[in-house]
Amino acid sequence: MRMIDHVITGGTAGLNASRKADVFDPNTGAVQAQVVLGRQDALDRAVAAAQAAQPAWAATNPQRRARVMFNFKALVEAEMDALAHMLSIEHGKVIADAKGDIQRGLEVVEFCCGIPHALKGEYTQGAGPGIDVYSMRQPLGIGAGITPFNFPAMIPLWMGAVAMAVGNAFILKPSERDPSLPNRLAELWLEAGLPEGIFQVVHGDKEMVDAILDHPAISAVSFVGSSDIAHYVYNRGVAAGKRVQAMGGAKNHGIVMPDADLDQVVNDLSGAAFGSAGERCMALPVVVPVGDDTAERLRAKLIPAIEALKVGVSTDPAAHYGPVVTRAHKEKVEGWIQKCADEGAELVVDGRGFKLQGHEDGFFVGPTLFDHVTPSMDSYHNEIFGPVLQIVRARDFEEALTLPTKHQYGNGVAIFTRNGHAAREFAARVNVGMVGINVPIPVPVAYHTFGGWKRSAFGDTNQHGMEGVKFWTKVKTVTARWPDGSPDGGNAFVIPTMG
Ligand code: NAD
Repeated sequence: MRMIDHVITGGTAGLNASRKADVFDPNTGAVQAQVVLGRQDALDRAVAAAQAAQPAWAATNPQRRARVMFNFKALVEAEMDALAHMLSIEHGKVIADAKGDIQRGLEVVEFCCGIPHALKGEYTQGAGPGIDVYSMRQPLGIGAGITPFNFPAMIPLWMGAVAMAVGNAFILKPSERDPSLPNRLAELWLEAGLPEGIFQVVHGDKEMVDAILDHPAISAVSFVGSSDIAHYVYNRGVAAGKRVQAMGGAKNHGIVMPDADLDQVVNDLSGAAFGSAGERCMALPVVVPVGDDTAERLRAKLIPAIEALKVGVSTDPAAHYGPVVTRAHKEKVEGWIQKCADEGAELVVDGRGFKLQGHEDGFFVGPTLFDHVTPSMDSYHNEIFGPVLQIVRARDFEEALTLPTKHQYGNGVAIFTRNGHAAREFAARVNVGMVGINVPIPVPVAYHTFGGWKRSAFGDTNQHGMEGVKFWTKVKTVTARWPDGSPDGGNAFVIPTMG
């Protein structure tokens, strides 16, 4: 059995690795590897290596650090096909989507190629007589990232690339469900010229997460995962005196106005609700047609589109989407389908019991559509994270606006309309962090910033872009006086002012 170990500078010999978890091929349901579930001793070793390496990395000029980013990007691009395959057969997303996962991460690396510009501080000349004020952004020291299964390339790179580009050492604790790709990224960082100890990977579950949250030498933790765990990570990390950002779950709504181009909407919804088997925090699992006429027209177009979706092995280029990540997750999704039906919604297309010939033990869930879902249902309130689309009908624009605004999650939302005023009004008033206007998955580009509101994010700094730079640095402000030698006549006992 292939064993997936930590990637720690100085090696892993002698570490306590008695606990292991199975890593599945979701296409077949077979165990294809095991990953070590590390303990405190593994983290301590990684932290020691990070402490040894970080000061010199922080002192390396930002242009040289940026060069490592350029090199890494080229190495990943050269290996794109193999990396996408590695990702696809552990996660279950199709190859083209796996490439998108990696490419989205690389776009953050591209942003980091310009890190010298982002680190230029502010400067005020002549803030007082002979006085200049300037600020600088300095790294925090050692940062950690704890990441979910659903973007094993993009999310580690959201965090790690920015953390390292600004001069930190970074320790990644990826999901134990698809750990191979993060390990390969660690090797590529070294090949790109990153000093040993600056990017390391420790594997594990709650025990390792707790060790990270409590470790006194780790200054900041970036987490992405489900909301209850995000909340826990945020509280425990902050209590230990760390800077923490913790992104959580989502239930994104797509509002369909009566004037929307419904063919386009159906095409967009098919990808946004069912792509990656719905395992995206920016998926669109709820569609809100405005008015019954819109609902009927949309439903009539959605049903054949959903029935035509091809569910297949993740390496099949013709498949629209592949299996979900584990058997336990498949059972959870199917449990939510049952729950939604029990709550009184109309099950229009039922994806349970889907079997792919030759892959009967794979973790596949067929596309599922519900109509007449209402806000009082648990299955609406909660994240299903599978290929399940729920139609919630709204009478008018105000009711449609209220649904995502009042929902516990506030990650993303989209409105489909030809009416600029409605779109503008919606974007201004909706209580959600990322808004799409005729864009079903409004994941911001790397030089903007990613983050939801409400129970979709704890902490107040987003991922990547300048918000990422802020998260991974602290500001120092210098007030300097170079007197010309004449007495300044000031009263040393009074707080200095510029008045
Ligand atoms: P998860 O919460 O199960 O796991 C996330 C991380 O937490 C993993 O590294 C895991 O090992 C660790 N973990 C698991 N149980 C833990 C516990 N009890 N205590 C401490 N740590 C624990 O999430 P997942 O299933 O891997 O990923 C899917 C979730 O992530 C969904 O809810 C999805 O919406 C969310 N997500 C959010 C965003 C975002 O940016 N808001 C992006 C991607 C995914």
